Amino acid sequence: MLSALTLGLQMGLTTAMPMPASVIALGTQPQFEVDAYTRQIEDRGGWWLELDDRLLVVAPATALPELVAGEQVLDELGWIRPDELALQARGCAIHPSAPLPAIARAGRYALVRTPATLLPYQLPEISEWRPVVPNRSIAQDWRARGRIDLAKRTVNPAVQQRVDTVDRDRWFGVLEDLAIYDRSSRHLDIVNARDWLLGQFARLGLQTSIHAFPMSGTVAVPQENVIGTLVGTTLPDEWIIVGAHYDSIQINAPEEATAAPGAEDNASGCAAVVEMAEVFTRFPPQRTMIFTCFSGEEQGLIGSTHWVEQALFPAGDLPKIKLALIMDMIGYSSDGQYDVLLETSNMLSSVFQPFQNAVADYASELVPHTSTYPFGSDHMPFIDRSVPSLLVIEYDYDDYPGYHKTTDVPGAIAHVLDMGGGVLKMNAAVLTEAAGYNDNSVFRDDFE
Ligand SMILES: [Zn+2]
Repeated sequence: MLSALTLGLQMGLTTAMPMPASVIALGTQPQFEVDAYTRQIEDRGGWWLELDDRLLVVAPATALPELVAGEQVLDELGWIRPDELALQARGCAIHPSAPLPAIARAGRYALVRTPATLLPYQLPEISEWRPVVPNRSIAQDWRARGRIDLAKRTVNPAVQQRVDTVDRDRWFGVLEDLAIYDRSSRHLDIVNARDWLLGQFARLGLQTSIHAFPMSGTVAVPQENVIGTLVGTTLPDEWIIVGAHYDSIQINAPEEATAAPGAEDNASGCAAVVEMAEVFTRFPPQRTMIFTCFSGEEQGLIGSTHWVEQALFPAGDLPKIKLALIMDMIGYSSDGQYDVLLETSNMLSSVFQPFQNAVADYASELVPHTSTYPFGSDHMPFIDRSVPSLLVIEYDYDDYPGYHKTTDVPGAIAHVLDMGGGVLKMNAAVLTEAAGYNDNSVFRDDFE
């Protein structure tokens, strides 16, 4: 039997050697076929990366032509080693370097050739760069891999009832109302947005509170997360967090005088938190639901991190959290195909499963993609503490013309009702099961 050490050395030797590489299209190959193919690549002494709709195939020169014969080859990269490639963050204000030409996009990263300036390999704390580890799925297209069809089950009437209660026009109305406020963390109007959100939560009968946190350079503007709690009927000490940030930013005009409307980023997600509260206050769940609108996200996840690290963690509350569902930019589609990205860490990837069923049964217009390379939104403070958490974000954010601009207004969000409506239905379905429901319409023999 091969010892782990020997195996590791062999793998290290194999993958460290430069070998020719091709990028092929995965098309609609089902998951089991892709799995069989990647096993074949490894058996021939090569390695691979799954990059959403593409596969990077790296193999000895004697094996590669045979491996890619009959496949649609999109690109040939020449001879490479894993450390000559890297993943560079995209679609987020955190990347200070210029974006490099992408070999392929996957999740919110692009596979690029490692620039010479990055040697020796540097990994900044905020994960602009991630190393390439051979034989990993960076991102996966669930529908193309056949996973949505496989998930099709019988519709649950209790879930359907909550899904049917979702009102996408009501959601868009809240989005429009929020976008009127200048929610820049450095402008005082954000306090009016805070009060407006508190009013929405109070109107729905939630227990409201605020969580204040410090932010350098903004002493004159209070920085606060807005929290609305719906106490669970039978399992109050088990929590479901539904969160999104309500602060916004614009970087295309002078900061002092200009408003940051942040309609897609992230009135869309924050309005979805309010819409989920609309639905679940009508059907009180078993577990406690905590609806949270974070602030300070655009300045570096300051509000969510402070809440997790300075409130929930010291109070011993983190183990109570069964799921933290975070939404950030959920309304835009560039082309009317409703691609949505679900993102968590590799370790927490079991949180994907209920979304697979939810899309199959209640939001089949969505085209879900998954990534286990998370960064740069309010799911991170939870993931960093190993709390099951997931980000829902539209997958065309890179093309959104209003991103972090003064033009991020409600009218700029193409396909907003269909795209956002699909996400709302998916999330309502997941949250119904996650929060637990009291089905009073079914009489049980053992009922006392
Ligand atoms: Zn955002």
